[in-house]
Amino acid sequence: MQKYEMYIDGKFVAPASGRWFDSFNPYTGDPWAQIAQGNADDVDRAVRAAHKAFTEGPWPQLNASQRGLLLHKLGELVARDAKKLAEIEVRDNGKLIAEMQGQLNYVPQWYYYFGGLADKIHGAVIPLDKKGFFNFTRHESLGVVAAISPWNSPLLLTTWKLAPALAAGNTVVIKPSEFTSASTLEFVKLFEEAGFPPGVVNVVTGFGKDVGTPLVAHPLVKKIAFTGSDATGRAINELAAKTFKRVSLELGGKSPNIVFADANLDDAVNGAVSGIFAATGQTCIAGSRLLLQESIHDAFIDKLLALAKTARMGDPMSPDTQVGPVTTRPQYEKVLGYIDIAKQEGAKLLLGGGPATRPECGKGWFVEPTVFAGVSNSMRIAQEEVFGPVLSVIKFKDEEDALAIANDVRFGLGSGVWTSDIGRAIRMSERIQAGTVWINTYRAVSYLSPFGGYKDSGLGRENGIDAIREYLQVKSVWINTGAATGNPFVLR
Ligand code: NAD
Repeated sequence: MQKYEMYIDGKFVAPASGRWFDSFNPYTGDPWAQIAQGNADDVDRAVRAAHKAFTEGPWPQLNASQRGLLLHKLGELVARDAKKLAEIEVRDNGKLIAEMQGQLNYVPQWYYYFGGLADKIHGAVIPLDKKGFFNFTRHESLGVVAAISPWNSPLLLTTWKLAPALAAGNTVVIKPSEFTSASTLEFVKLFEEAGFPPGVVNVVTGFGKDVGTPLVAHPLVKKIAFTGSDATGRAINELAAKTFKRVSLELGGKSPNIVFADANLDDAVNGAVSGIFAATGQTCIAGSRLLLQESIHDAFIDKLLALAKTARMGDPMSPDTQVGPVTTRPQYEKVLGYIDIAKQEGAKLLLGGGPATRPECGKGWFVEPTVFAGVSNSMRIAQEEVFGPVLSVIKFKDEEDALAIANDVRFGLGSGVWTSDIGRAIRMSERIQAGTVWINTYRAVSYLSPFGGYKDSGLGRENGIDAIREYLQVKSVWINTGAATGNPFVLR
């Protein structure tokens, strides 16, 4: 079995605890790697290494263009190793090779984009209202950033934090999910090859309470960039407040995918299936509430079921597979639990509704693609994030009704609107309370376009120019060019 050490100050090191835990392959249910079980001592070691790299040594001596070049080189190395990294992710999280290969092929763009942005960070000269002063701003790095990531898209979501954090001149300690640490530990080998000084990027593996909590509490950490569940996000936000850390949180969702009668229904069916069954529904932007206008409700469901029934399940490493296993055993049990809840709540089961026992699923953690109709928006199945292949179908009358249902949820991450009426598309995009609105498409992201949540779906934005501001602080510099110093007891 492969054994992975942690990565601190440019070296792979054993955990202070001397303990290791297993990482499982969700397709076979068997352990395939051993991961170092970190604790507060390892966190302290990594944070101190990152702090030293930030304050001393070659990293702070580099100019922004040189930092940008290192990021560009890193992007090229990820592109070179994309296939290998994607295969490790599939082994660890059971998502499809087609999906993970696509993600890994795309990851280098973040390093190219933020590498290019590194030397375009600058302040401004402010034309003041007061005479005799020259005032300008500086955009400065924060220091040590902690990047905490989930299991569903490990390297993509780590990259969304790492690329802007490094472009802005910070140093980083990564804490990957305990379920999917291996790809991050393979990926960090590329930093030395790209030419990053030791300590600029570190990885501490282990569990949330052993590694995540001490990382969030550590006084030398200045910012937490987190993707994960809203419960963990809330705990992190509370703890980080004690030491006034900056926090960006990318949390869960219960996104509405809304189909009007005037939409191209075949495209919308495709979007609905992609919204909930792609990635086995294990995506924060899953379109888990399908809102259908009354007049097309029955016909749409017929088409949806016809397409969903053709989904091929099985080995995620096979390029033909369309729905893979659920990533972790607890998540598998949670998804089945929600299916039971929906049945008890009186939702009408139209498809699936339990574990997949098809021969091609072996002993992996597979759940049948599941569709419930007759869902009312107040049911738990419509309000709580399942994070699995379970779709709730809700009927609506008109635009106002659709909006009321769409917004009647505590989350606000993604949303989809399917219509051929441009006016309606724009009206809906103005009034839906979510960080992303997709019109006649679903589940598209880019390094160029900001991503993040409204309401309980999070704080801050990743991707695009706005993301780099999350990793900078602004200083205002005042120079007296001839103003009288004046009365010392009065504000100048
Ligand atoms: P999780 O919150 O259980 O874990 C995420 C990370 O936080 C893991 O590395 C975990 O070890 C760590 N952690 C756990 N407890 C901690 C603590 N007290 N302090 C610090 N760190 C701690 O989430 P998960 O189950 O790995 O991921 C699934 C969730 O992530 C879903 O809710 C999903 O919607 C969300 N998600 C959001 C986005 C987004 O961009 N908005 C993207 C993907 C996933």
